[in-house]
Amino acid sequence: MIRVKALAVTAPKQTGFFDLETPALGFGEALVRVRAVALCTLEQRVFQGVIKLPLPFVGGHEVAGEVIALGAGADPTAFPPGTRVAVRLFYHCGLCAACRSGQSNMCEAAKHKPVREGLLPGPGGLMDQVIVPVNMLFKIDDAISYEQASLTEPLACCVHSINRAAIRLGEDVVVIGGGVMGQFHVMLAKLRGARVLMSEPLEKRRETALALGADRAIDPTREDPVAAVGAWTGGERAGAVINTTADAGVFAQAFSMVGKGGRLIQYSSIHPDVPASISPQHTHAWEVTVTGSVSPVLEDFATANRLLNLGIIKVDRLISAVFPFEEGQQAFETAVRPETMRVVVTR
Ligand SMILES: [Zn+2]
Ligand SMILES: [Zn+2]
Repeated sequence: MIRVKALAVTAPKQTGFFDLETPALGFGEALVRVRAVALCTLEQRVFQGVIKLPLPFVGGHEVAGEVIALGAGADPTAFPPGTRVAVRLFYHCGLCAACRSGQSNMCEAAKHKPVREGLLPGPGGLMDQVIVPVNMLFKIDDAISYEQASLTEPLACCVHSINRAAIRLGEDVVVIGGGVMGQFHVMLAKLRGARVLMSEPLEKRRETALALGADRAIDPTREDPVAAVGAWTGGERAGAVINTTADAGVFAQAFSMVGKGGRLIQYSSIHPDVPASISPQHTHAWEVTVTGSVSPVLEDFATANRLLNLGIIKVDRLISAVFPFEEGQQAFETAVRPETMRVVVTR
C-alpha cells in the first residue's frame, strides 16, 4: 500500500487534511513526490461553493514534482527516480470517439475517471504524492523551478486556445480578462505576431498585461470596449477575440468585436450558463467563427513544457504567492482574492 496525505475542500471555505491509503503501483505507473501545485479556478470555485461537487474534494491538477518510484513495465531509463517532472493529471481513455478523432481533451471517460481505491474524488494533485501513468510525465529543465513548472498545465490550456484562434502575423487580437489565463493569451498571441489589446477592469492586471507585451490595455468599466476595439482597429474589428471571463454578457460583447473572417474563442467555462444574444446575420455576412476551448490535448502539454523549458514563456509574474502544503487553508483564501494571480502550494 502507498500512504498519502491529501489536502481537501471539506465544506464551503473550509479545508482539511486526510491520511489515505491506496494500492501499490500498477503496471506502467510512477509515484511522484509532489513539490508544487498551483491552485486553479476549478478548485477555487469548489472552495467558494460556486461549483457544487461531492465533498471532501481533492483539487489540484497543476502539478510538478519528483519521480520517486516506478511500477513494473515503466521504462526506468525514461524517468528514473529523481527526475524532475511536470505532471499531467488528466486521463483519457484512448477508446472513445473523441479520443479517436484527436480530441482527447473531450474524452467521455475523463469525466468519470476512476478514482484510485482509497483516494478521494477530484483531480487529486493536492497530495504529498500522486500516482500517474509514466506517459503523463514531462521532464523539466534544471533552470525551471517546481513552482514555475506547476504552471505547465494552465499554459497548455492556453496553447490549445491560441491554436484554435489560428492567429495570423500582424493580426489584431483582443484578450478579455487579465487573470492568469488572459495573461498567458497575451504572451502567446505576441509570439504569434499579433498586436494585442487587453480589456480588464483591474489596473494592476492591465499593468501586468502591458508588461507582458500587450500593446494596449483598456478598462471596460470606463470606456465601451466594443467602441474601443472599433477605434483601435480603424473600424475593422479584431481577427481574434478571446473571452477568458465567465460572463455570458461579455460573450455577446466579445462577438461584436470580431472582424471579417475573425474567430471568437469562449475560453472560460460559464457559471451559471445563460443564453447570450449574438447576431446570426453578422455571423453570416462577416464569416465569423464562434468556438470554444476546453482543456489541452497531450500535444499542447508537450508544447507548454517546451515553451517553459526553453525560457520562451516566463511565468514569474503570474505567481502571486507560495504557501507550504500545511498552510493550505491560507493558500485557498489568498487564491480567491480578485487581485491574485496563481497561488502555488509547495512541499
Ligand atoms: Zn488548471
Ligand atoms: Zn476517451
